[in-house]
Amino acid sequence: MKSDIQICRDTLLTPIDQIAQVTGIKPEDLTPQGSLKAKVKPSILKRLADKPEGKLVLVTAITPTPLGEGKTVTTIGLSQGLAKVGKKVIACIRQPSMGPVFGVKGGAAGGGYSQVAPMEKLNLHLTGDIHAVTAAHNLAAAAIDARLYHEERHGYEQFARRTELTPLRIDINRIVWKRVMDHNDRALRKITVGLNEPGKTINGLEREDGFDISAASELMAILALSRDLADMRARIGRIVLAYNIDGQAITADDLHVAGAMAVTLCEAIEPTLMQTLEGVPTLIHAGPFANIAHGNSSIIADRIALKLSEFTVTEGGFGSDMGLEKACNIKAQQAERGPDCAVMVATLRGLKANSGLYDLRPGQPLPEAIFAPDEKALVAGFENLKWHIRNAAKYGLPVVVAINRFPQDSDAELAQLKAMVNAQDFGTYVDVAISEAFGKGGDGAIALARAVVTACETPADFKPLYSLSQTLEEKLMTVAEVGYGSQGIELSERAKQQLAELKAQGHDNLAVCLAKTPLSITHDPSVKGAPRGFLLPVRELKLCAGAGFVYALCGNVMTMPGLPEKPAYMALDLDDNGNIVGLS
Ligand code: ADP
Ligand code: MG
Repeated sequence: MKSDIQICRDTLLTPIDQIAQVTGIKPEDLTPQGSLKAKVKPSILKRLADKPEGKLVLVTAITPTPLGEGKTVTTIGLSQGLAKVGKKVIACIRQPSMGPVFGVKGGAAGGGYSQVAPMEKLNLHLTGDIHAVTAAHNLAAAAIDARLYHEERHGYEQFARRTELTPLRIDINRIVWKRVMDHNDRALRKITVGLNEPGKTINGLEREDGFDISAASELMAILALSRDLADMRARIGRIVLAYNIDGQAITADDLHVAGAMAVTLCEAIEPTLMQTLEGVPTLIHAGPFANIAHGNSSIIADRIALKLSEFTVTEGGFGSDMGLEKACNIKAQQAERGPDCAVMVATLRGLKANSGLYDLRPGQPLPEAIFAPDEKALVAGFENLKWHIRNAAKYGLPVVVAINRFPQDSDAELAQLKAMVNAQDFGTYVDVAISEAFGKGGDGAIALARAVVTACETPADFKPLYSLSQTLEEKLMTVAEVGYGSQGIELSERAKQQLAELKAQGHDNLAVCLAKTPLSITHDPSVKGAPRGFLLPVRELKLCAGAGFVYALCGNVMTMPGLPEKPAYMALDLDDNGNIVGLS
């Protein structure tokens, strides 16, 4: 089979204004960015206000291997399959971050005959939204250090006289806004800024700082969760950047930087329209990771897609304990709109990887045996799929298992897995289909598409796991116990203190966004399958008042990834004609 990039390059694509036209997006709603991508103005929602909404399908998966289980392939393939069975459909996915593109995973445009095109545009920069998030985020970081420097240099009173501004009296030890960039760079996790020659302070004030990856920025979450431009501006204003020497919060509005941050993001708030290899319209918007952020594409893109189609297919990152949990508890509560159906992606290799019978230490290549038939491993790994099906069902969603077929998979083993799902009584709506979307595009996803249409016709009874009126501690416990199956949470001393502070500051009504490894249902990546009886350690809490959640760091999760020994970027290059090679 041809490489992903070759398949993409060999496909005749439709000019984006034609894709827009058949989708119902008018020229005045569109800002073309070349001939194959265009920004869609959120103001389109005013024109579409009276239109009914279609169905929202959320693609999720079993506990993944580091390579991904094929959620994006299935999201795009299912969209193409739905189009083949005559449905009007729009796919909504996140913009890939350069961290994974150059790091372990490679691109995130799908693969084979189920890709968003042009895949190299999607995977690299696209329309610059992530860079805009980075720029807006770092503007606030620069603003804090500059203000600290100027107030310190002149003294509060003189500063006030010179500027006619109220001094913010920033506590240098309580600046909670780090810097970000869209790369995996472990050396920047912990740094010192403002280093000076002895006796001089021309470079600002020396303090410890650090970088997160842009996908983990609160601003990225705000971009993904805002309903419109005014909502985004208001949320940015609420971001808490630091505390003053009396312990009071200093927001982006207090620093008068929120307006400029919103200006920096005023094009990023427009989703980008692209197409799949079979011409299905696809909206790309925002890129929060599902382990260290809330892991779902934007509410704005979903709202537009729901108005313009019968089916909107979107993806929550990593396994259902991660992206689906956050889609249902954070995104759906803020959007006031839950999904109608969950598609659970499973692979033979992924289930075997979850059997606990293979040596899968991080950084090692997957053992070859995992790609060959192995009944014992499949049966053991099936426990993980059962866990995730039951997990999605907890939210009241009908579940369609999509068995994502890889080229090496045997018919017999695929049939066996399908039979295992059918034989199990889940006490709720569960269907299963084999997807050959990677190898055959939409034609390979027709059975899956039909199953999804039927599942969406069953009345969904969507319910999040918690309500916002519960306390933060109750919400954390609910996600840990009901969402992960733990026996409870173990708060560090620091987290206990932070919880008390957040409560005192009136933030008990926010959602919770748990950051943990995606490679296990627990906080420990080496624990496979469907574990129970563990305690979830909560190390630290962070207020994201603009995003509307409190971020909880669980276990050793890092908010700035590192590059592996042999990163994906090594394969990338340009050929003699200037074409990109080695991107998958
Ligand atoms: P996820 O969205 O779950 O992270 P992706 O859809 O991005 O996963 O797929 C991860 C990688 O695996 C991609 O390189 C993709 O092309 C490849 N892949 C997914 N499904 C298949 C398949 N059925 N056959 C071959 N390769 C596949
Ligand atoms: Mg994906």
